[in-house]
Order: sequence, then C-alpha cells, then structure tokens
Amino acid sequence: MKLAQLGEFGLIERIRAAAPAGRLRLGIGDDCAAQALGPGELLLTTTDLLVEGVHFRREWTDLRRLGRKSVSVNVSDIAAMGGEPRALYLALALPPDLTLEEVDAFTSGVLEAAGEYGAVLAGGDTCRSPGPLLISVTAEGAVPEGEMIRRSGARPGDALYVSGTLGDSALALRHLLAGEEPPPPLAARHHDPAARVRLGRSLAAAGIASAMIDLSDGLLADLGHILTASGTGAEVEVRALPLSPEFRNALAADPDLLDLALSGGEDYELLFTVPSGVERHLGDAAGEAGIQVTRIGKIVHSGAGCTVRDADGGIRAGTRRGFNHFEG
Ligand code: ADP
Ligand code: MG
Repeated sequence: MKLAQLGEFGLIERIRAAAPAGRLRLGIGDDCAAQALGPGELLLTTTDLLVEGVHFRREWTDLRRLGRKSVSVNVSDIAAMGGEPRALYLALALPPDLTLEEVDAFTSGVLEAAGEYGAVLAGGDTCRSPGPLLISVTAEGAVPEGEMIRRSGARPGDALYVSGTLGDSALALRHLLAGEEPPPPLAARHHDPAARVRLGRSLAAAGIASAMIDLSDGLLADLGHILTASGTGAEVEVRALPLSPEFRNALAADPDLLDLALSGGEDYELLFTVPSGVERHLGDAAGEAGIQVTRIGKIVHSGAGCTVRDADGGIRAGTRRGFNHFEG
C-alpha cells in the first residue's frame, strides 16, 4: 500500500492504534498530549516538524522570522488546549551551506518568540543535514486540571467561533508561488504568525469553549477534526467568515479565492465552540486577550455532516477539505 492511499491522518491513526496509551491523561489525537503535572495541573506536550522544501523555502523568508514561526506554530497547539507554554526543545539538522550569521538569526528569532510567549528554551539536539534544513520544536505547557479544552467537547447547538481573519497566509503563499512579493500584511501572516495564547488561556479560564483546535491545515479540515472527535456535524456561513482588508481586495477581483479562507492552511487562529449558556461572556474573554472573534456557524447533529452555506443561503459544493501531507 502506498502512503498516498493511507493519507496523513490514516497514517497517524495507524500509529495511534499500535501505540499503548500508558498513563497519559490524553494521548495521540488532539493538539497536545496531557499528563498530570502537580496537584491540579496538567502537563501539555506537542511537537512539530518543519522541513525545507515542504513547509518553507529559504529564499522566501529570512532566518529570524523562520525561527519565530518555528516556535509560534508549535506554541499554537498549546494555545488550542487552553494552556500556557513553559519550555521549548529545539532539534536542528543544518545543511552545510548555512552561515553562522544565518544560524544566529534563526536562534535569535526562536528566543525572541519564546520570550514573547513566556517560554524558555530548555534543550534540543543539533546535527548536520546532507540535504534540507530540518527544524523540530517540542513545547511543554501547563493547564489547570478541569480547564483543558479538547477537540471532542462540541455539542449540537453550540456556536462556532474563529479568532482573527482567515486565508491571509494561504493568499501570501499563492503570491510567493507565483513569484510575486505578497502585500506586507499578508506576508507577515505567512512568515510570522502569532499563536493565540492569551485568547486560549482566557477562554479556558472562563470555561467558555467546549471544544477547540488551532487552524494549521485549513478551516474545513480542522473543523473536521473537531466534528470527528465530538461526533457532531456543523453548518458554516460563508458570509460570516472574517476576512482582512487585503483578502477582501483580492477576493473582489477573483471570487474563487474564497476557497483559501475555507481550506487554506497556516492561519494559526483558534477555532472553538461555545455553548449558548456562556456565549454572553465571550466578549469579555476576547477583549481581555485583545483579539477579535467571529461567529461563523453552529454545531449540529452528526448525521448532517459539515455544510457550508454560501452568501445566498445555498449549499456550497466541491470545497477542498484542506491540507494533507501525503496527497499528491
Ligand atoms: P496538529 O496539526 O495539531 O499538530 P497533527 O494532525 O499533526 O496535529 O496530529 C494529530 C495527532 O496525532 C496529535 O495528537 C499528534 O501528536 C499525533 N501524531 C502525529 N504524527 C504522529 C506520529 N508520527 N506518531 C505518533 N503520533 C503522531
Ligand atoms: Mg493543532
């Protein structure tokens, strides 16, 4: 059997099924794993791999921003559980043509972002790479027991919310692939995304979100993970999707770009569900975190699957689900 037939998520499920659960509070299948830390606290752990030629091209970004992004995409998974990051481990396989200045710039980006999230670099590993630059970041974080937000807590009737704006990073990537310089606000979203740690923490502390995930593979793909884990369906309203002014400009010229907001990857926003009883507290929690949140739909019974409603109320067909590593 070829990897392409199994797909990224089929492969992960195959590994999960073969791995004993041990004494973890939460194992493979969510944004982080969780173990008891001390009384009343859970330790969250997550790891991400960034490979040159797969996740980034060195000619498109500077090494400082690449260092910042390596930290942010990882810390984003801690945010998605409602946790706060504590320690980072950085493993590097460095190609021989990299200069010391470039490595220093990368490291300073890593340390700068870690400091902004309140985490420390606690270790790692370094070796030579005969080919691409490989970056592996592992983050440990903590969340008070009882506040951890999983992918599996969504229930029919919950409202569906997303932070920030959608599709900016994917639109920047489209420019880069076409050999163009993206408008600076879009480039910043692609090269230097911000993990929504403060929002995740305040949603968790206030007990507002019933399920949460960070958007790495695209809105519909990551919503799919919440729906699968929760055993529910969802309805998404296209006219409610939060879009940046730059994205709206591009969309006015090419309506097909809407697919980037629905299925483009690397937004690193938080997608979460809110039971109706606590929805009125959401404004305060988001205000505390200083980030806009937008209601984009609702959770429904599982039989309904995931429906995307166009601005005219009709059902949108043929939307790509999102990014999957072994698909051709
Ligand atoms: P995310 O996009 O949030 O980083 P992924 O889709 O990469 O999540 O992973 C989903 C789940 O599968 C996570 O619990 C992750 O730890 C686990 N996972 C991914 N790859 C592997 C692997 N090679 N071995 C064991 N677990 C894995
Ligand atoms: Mg995630």
